[in-house]
Amino acid sequence: YYNFAAGPAMLPVEVIAQIKEDLPVYKNSGMSVMEISHRSKLYQDLYEETKADMLDLMKLDPAEYDVLFLTGGATQQFTTIPLNIARKYRRIALVDSGHWAQRAGEDAQKLPNLEVDTVASAKDNNYTAVPEIPTVFAKDYDYVHITTNNTIMGTAYRDDQVPDLDLPLVADMSSNFLGQVYDFNKFDLIYAGAQKNLAPAGLTVLIIKKDLLVKHDDLPGYFDFATEAAKKSALNTPPVFQVYVAGLALKWLKKQGGVAGIAKVNQEKADLLYNTLAETKNFESKVDENSRSIMNVPFVTGNPDLDAEFVKEAEAHHLLNLKGHRLVGGMRASIYNAMPLEGVQALCDFIKDFDAKH
Ligand code: PLP
Repeated sequence: YYNFAAGPAMLPVEVIAQIKEDLPVYKNSGMSVMEISHRSKLYQDLYEETKADMLDLMKLDPAEYDVLFLTGGATQQFTTIPLNIARKYRRIALVDSGHWAQRAGEDAQKLPNLEVDTVASAKDNNYTAVPEIPTVFAKDYDYVHITTNNTIMGTAYRDDQVPDLDLPLVADMSSNFLGQVYDFNKFDLIYAGAQKNLAPAGLTVLIIKKDLLVKHDDLPGYFDFATEAAKKSALNTPPVFQVYVAGLALKWLKKQGGVAGIAKVNQEKADLLYNTLAETKNFESKVDENSRSIMNVPFVTGNPDLDAEFVKEAEAHHLLNLKGHRLVGGMRASIYNAMPLEGVQALCDFIKDFDAKH
């Protein structure tokens, strides 16, 4: 079976195997890994190691960046980030690359006295390509918000399409977090829901430049990044199990050669799939070649009945969750870090077979 869901998504089989081992008793503690306390030394060690591994994989200096392990999903950050960071000008520059970027803008816009300006949009190309990120701005902004990978449309920025800006750059990396090479130093704040490329749902990671960690007394502690950082993300009960799984996934990632190592495999998987689609008579990808995501690949036949037949038959061939997002229809194959090349090969074989029969 291969699970092509956009999230919650596949975890590496090696990670699942380790969880099975730790599930009854974790490190001779007499407790299941699901039962360990966030105040225990076991968790404190796990937290420190996971944080260190993450910064190491991202090639970020721990003296400059901190990591927060939060809950509430990427969605909660649409509100919490402006609460913390949009304080001087109360104005955000939003790059509208698709649905989730718009959601981030809409939620920020609900905060009092806060302005969200869309400074670039992919609306004109119907979101089939990412809009260029501006480097010069007509007004003062507290930060620029981008979405590095657009889960629904299947577009993404490559590292060379992300400029080094003079003002803070905030990125929603939910759907390509640690799956693609970026110079992470270009970013001042990165956030991601863990359920696509890292851990089960319930954990949100936030990597933040330490100079942004300013305590705001008007914010409840839970929403204040500086307070969360001072409390080592344990102001209240953190998602211990999810942090543990993230820790395993990061160790696994190191074994794959880190971000550069896995990104090479991810590119190979994506190339295989895009090339296969291009060779068929029934299927096509609508995404501009220069903006192709290597994580989420939507494709269509143009005939909803045929799409439905494809998805149903694919399930019967153990290729799961290929139905496209309701906003775009058709199919979508999410091929995150944990999806092996063999999974994509199996999908491509099935696509070719289906194409020959229709
Ligand atoms: N941002 C992006 C790019 C996403 O793909 C998603 C979910 O699919 C979200 C945000 C929302 O994430 P969450 O469900 O963790 O709030």
